[in-house]
Order: sequence, then C-alpha cells, then structure tokens
Amino acid sequence: MNQSPVWHAFTQHGLGEPVPLIERAEGAWLHGADGSRWLDAISSWWVTTHGHCHPRIMAAIRAQTERLDQLIFAGWTHQPAEDLARGLRAIMPETLTRVFFSDSGSTAVEVALKMALGHWANLGTPRHRIVVMEHSYHGDTIGAMSVGARGVFNQAYAPLLFDVVRIPFPAAGAEQATIDALDAACREAPAPAALIVEPLLLGAGGMLGYGAATLAELAAVCARHDVLFIADEVMTGWGRTGTLLACEQAGVVPDILCLSKGLTGGALPLAVTMAAERIFESHYSTDRTKTFFHSSSYTANPIACAAANANLAIWTEEPVLERISALGTMQAERLADISLHPRVEAPRRIGTIAAFDIAAPEGGYLAAIGPKLTAFFRDRGLLLRPLGSTVYVMPPYCVTGDELDLVYSAIGEALESLFDDLQTGSP
Ligand SMILES: *Cc1c(COP(=O)(O)O)cnc(C)c1O
Repeated sequence: MNQSPVWHAFTQHGLGEPVPLIERAEGAWLHGADGSRWLDAISSWWVTTHGHCHPRIMAAIRAQTERLDQLIFAGWTHQPAEDLARGLRAIMPETLTRVFFSDSGSTAVEVALKMALGHWANLGTPRHRIVVMEHSYHGDTIGAMSVGARGVFNQAYAPLLFDVVRIPFPAAGAEQATIDALDAACREAPAPAALIVEPLLLGAGGMLGYGAATLAELAAVCARHDVLFIADEVMTGWGRTGTLLACEQAGVVPDILCLSKGLTGGALPLAVTMAAERIFESHYSTDRTKTFFHSSSYTANPIACAAANANLAIWTEEPVLERISALGTMQAERLADISLHPRVEAPRRIGTIAAFDIAAPEGGYLAAIGPKLTAFFRDRGLLLRPLGSTVYVMPPYCVTGDELDLVYSAIGEALESLFDDLQTGSP
C-alpha cells in the first residue's frame, strides 16, 4: 500500500504505478527532486500553453499577491477581474458581451447549462432538453458528466445523471446523419434548450476531429430553430487548434462559450463562461427570482485573474499565432514520418495537436496497451498519457524541434518494443 495519503485523480492506486515527485518546471520540462526530468508532451493535461513558469505570468502573480488575495464576487469587484472581462471582450467574438467567472472547465460547463435553462425559464418558455454529441467530454461533475459520453468512467454514477439527446459523431462521410439528427431533435417538442459541443476536436473522447463545415452546419441548425449553441472550448481554445478559438475556423459564434485550461496560460485554475447579450438580458430584471443563481467561493480569484491578464498580454503583444503555426508544421512533419510505421492508424492533426491510433488487439480507454505506453514513456523522460490505444502529442507552444524529436523517437521505439511484448504475451 502506498504510504502517501494523497488520492490521485484518474489513478488506480492498486496497480502500484510509481508517482513521480516534481519539484519545479520550466518551459516544456518538469524537474524531479533527484535531478531526473521529463518533457511535458501533453502540457500537463492540456493546460500549459506558453510553457511552465512563464516569466510574465509568474511576475503578474507575484505582483498581485502583494495587493489582493481573494474577494467575495457577489456584489463586489476588483480590477483584475474588470480588466480580464474587458480584455476577453476585446479578443473574443464581439457578440459575447458578458463574462461569468468560475474555477474549472467543468464549472464553466455547469454554468453554461444553467444559463441556458435559466434563459428559457426567465422568458416564461421553460426548456430542459440538452442535445450532445456522441463521444464528447465536458468534465467530471454530475451535470458535465450527464452531457458527456457514458462509459466506464461514469457507470457507477449513471443513476444520478440526467437524460440528454445524443446525436452521432460526424465521422468522415457520415456528417449528414449528424446534421439530420440535430435537426430532428430541434423539431421534436418540447424544443431543446441548447446544443453543447466541443468544436472541431473531441479531446478526451479520443482526439476525434470533424470538419469546420459540419460545425458551421450544426450552428446553423441551432440558429434556425432558436436552440442555444454552447461551444465548449475548454480544450480547443487558446490556440490549440491553430486559431484562438476553434469556432473561428467555421466562422461561427456560439451563444455561450466555455473557456478554462489555457485561460491563465495553465498557471492557475480559472474559467469563464461568456454569453451573448440576450442571455444576460433574460436574467436582467428588478425581480430577484430571475437572478443567475450560481457562485463558487473563489469566483474570479484576483490572483488567478492577474495570471489570465498576463496571458492576454502575451496573446496581444507576442506572435503567439506564428509560434502555433510553426509548431503545427513541426508536428505535421513528425506525424508524417511516424505514420509510415505499419502499426500507426488514422494519423491526424489539427493545429498543435497530433494523434494516431495504435493497431492494438483491444481498443478503448482500458486497452491494455495504454498504461504500458504511459510507463514506457515515463521511464524515458517523457510525460505522455495515451487515451487507451490513442497516442497524442499536445506540447506547450515553446517546445523546440529537437524536443519534439525526443518525443517521436520514443514513440517509434514504443511501437517496436511494446508490440514484441504483446505478441509474445509477456507483461
Ligand atoms: C478538460 C475539459 C473539461 C473539464 O475541465 P476541468 O478543468 O478538468 O474541469 C471540459 N470540457 C472539455 C472539452 C475538456 O477538455
């Protein structure tokens, strides 16, 4: 039995896997106490955008700690939150005029769902059905799990999850079935309150991409039926897919937008749910029962907001999109090389994210190969955490070509040696 009292996230402690202790981090590297180091090829679970301990973000945090640590955000305000809301309005789609703060991607999604239902209830035309896409992931709280894919992760909690309407994932060639399913769901009474989707790329569902034209069609169907369109850009936002928001590539603007992960550059937990004016308006009243009843204790924490303001300054003052584009090219070249390997299936890339599936005897998240790969990479100084038999590389934007070469040469090695093991049946 492990001596540490820490119960880790998404970790089966019974398997006895080592848990590396990290002392500090810089750029794309994590450093252990004993001098060992790991290249963070998944941006510490998709949050670190510009690199670890980015000097501008760290300086902003330090400066804020000298002034204001925390403040109730119901009826009180502070400059870092005011600046951040204005800064977001300046770089995010123009029609998203209101900024609601929370602490994580899951809470940003919960807020979005509550805003959607609150909107219809306040208009006197209550709606409660939510349309979701097959294989999607929106977080691990009960509401966020309800609108996400059902499976091994949440089957124990299934009795607590609410019913949603599912439309199929728009696999290549089958996009029309998805559009038609959404259209049918929108026509069926009672009308849905909202559609929630991960734009262009389903992350935790296995790095599954679909086209901008399909995303544009989904948004158009929602608009036609006056169903709210919620974009969960918690993972895809902040340049991951090559543009600030993935929605940009489809020329669509959601009614409600969820952002977290890269909002602070990955330094501190913070989220926003941005809403179109009409959603704020339906809550705007002298009638207190129409209030948006949501808060968490650390809503808009000033230190986290200061980190996010530094992130916005980096985005507006530095050539971030150029860095992202260069990283995309580097990823494309390496993915093309590794794709020549016979065990690599469905290589795919969008922006800074590259992924492929390994032809494994069993697929899915619990595929035997997954933990073996993770351990293999950990032993070679790499933080990579395949989703079952899906390997993906999602590094911070500061990663160099030489560093990426380390990642892909280890992947190449894994494709050779782990397969020999699987074929001979040894552990
Ligand atoms: C990670 C993620 C979430 C949940 O964010 P947390 O900060 O982990 O709660 C929600 N939606 C998407 C698309 C995500 O990738």
